[in-house]
Amino acid sequence: MSNLFAAIPSVDLCKNLLFEREPDLGKMNPELLRKLITNYWDTFRQKIKAGQIKSSHELDVTVHLDSLSRFIKLGQKPNLRRVINGAGVVVHTNLGRSVLPLEAQQAVNLAAQGYTNLEFDLQTGNRGSRYNLVEGWLQEITGAEAAVVVNNNAAAVMLMLDTFCRGGEVVLSRGELVEIGGSFRIPNVMRKSGAILREVGATNRTHLQDYAEAICQETRALMRVHTSNYRIVGFHSKVSLEELSNLAHANKILLLEDLGSGSLIHFAQAGLPDEPTVQETVRYADLVSFSGDKVLGGPQAGIIVGRKDLVDQLKRNQLTRALRCDKLCLAALEASLRLYLDLDMAKHEIPTLKAILTPYEELASQAEHLARGFQAVLSAKCQISCQKSVSRVGGGAFPQYDLPTVMVFLKPDNFPVEKLKKALLTVDPPVIGHIEDDAFGIDPRTLALTDYPILFKSVLDAFSVAEKIG
Ligand SMILES: *Cc1c(COP(=O)(O)O)cnc(C)c1O
Repeated sequence: MSNLFAAIPSVDLCKNLLFEREPDLGKMNPELLRKLITNYWDTFRQKIKAGQIKSSHELDVTVHLDSLSRFIKLGQKPNLRRVINGAGVVVHTNLGRSVLPLEAQQAVNLAAQGYTNLEFDLQTGNRGSRYNLVEGWLQEITGAEAAVVVNNNAAAVMLMLDTFCRGGEVVLSRGELVEIGGSFRIPNVMRKSGAILREVGATNRTHLQDYAEAICQETRALMRVHTSNYRIVGFHSKVSLEELSNLAHANKILLLEDLGSGSLIHFAQAGLPDEPTVQETVRYADLVSFSGDKVLGGPQAGIIVGRKDLVDQLKRNQLTRALRCDKLCLAALEASLRLYLDLDMAKHEIPTLKAILTPYEELASQAEHLARGFQAVLSAKCQISCQKSVSRVGGGAFPQYDLPTVMVFLKPDNFPVEKLKKALLTVDPPVIGHIEDDAFGIDPRTLALTDYPILFKSVLDAFSVAEKIG
């Protein structure tokens, strides 16, 4: 075993050989280079210890030069990187949810470049409020009296409960006691906020009477939570917003709604069910909360709209300070919201809306286009086909609803498709997609046209990586 350890090439030897191949590496921070080479061989030290390496030939530097060089190139990259979403899930939480509209990207850039009037009133020269930057746009677009924005919708829900329901009861249907993912569970959030959950009804059906019977002296609010990432089919029913609103107000308690994704437009043209928009919901609920980076298509944020007297109380809660969002978020959110003033514009300029609303015929022709591109770079290495498949909205919006699409499938001739899938994660930018029937599928729905050449290069690189691993 000690012989094997001794066979690990020295950092200097690796450096010299690497510089011969790639003179550009000479410009790299020498300490980082040394550290990366050492890290690379550390894996092999572990393997020697585990008895997984039998002969010193396996440690020959010439055999490793390619993968060492790739390892170093990856090591130079930031941990948070651009990836290509070929998975066809538009609001993909693991891939950073919404892609920002161009206007929002530019606004972030400007806000990052210099000082801003984040909390400075340019009319009076006095201290201003960051909340005013987007409140007007939210009033205009949703018709709400007032609005406040915090870090994300989880924070928004917590803030509403903490402000109005701490120590009191909140009546919620058993069908809405959901876990959203990332360990956000409504019953737990409720407990954390100091509110007491009064669950009513059954998982599949809750009636107005169930809510009415649960209201008592301690009740502060009726709450509705969008079931987001799951769907009840079959024998089920829930109470309309209007009825709940009447019941709450007759009892002088609040109606709170966690809309989850919270869309500002209808998606019927994409064949999706007609869910109430934020605008429609806020007509009945006293406060409505929703995410900024789900189907709204902006940055991560939790938006609360509703009655002015209540929003004022939210703003005064100390928790709001802890949950506040930063200037980059507000810059992106303002730019994204402004696009909604003209819905046609929003549908074209907001990548999330555009992706959800792309018609099937257009996806089919984009898939053809992609397939021709792949044919040109990969011709003899794999079978390329276009097939009907489905995309998803994701982010808990429209769960289990299929958006019809056409995907391009790649089936390598000389190695298993799993190897391609793995190799695609090692190239730059990495490509995320999934395997169906032994082929790797890429959905044009979540690609911008400008991604195509980058995608072709990544896939070509992945093929050479996979071929080298053998
Ligand atoms: C997504 C979601 C949340 C959490 O929103 P974030 O913006 O991810 O914090 C809360 N409630 C519902 C119903 C959701 O769908």
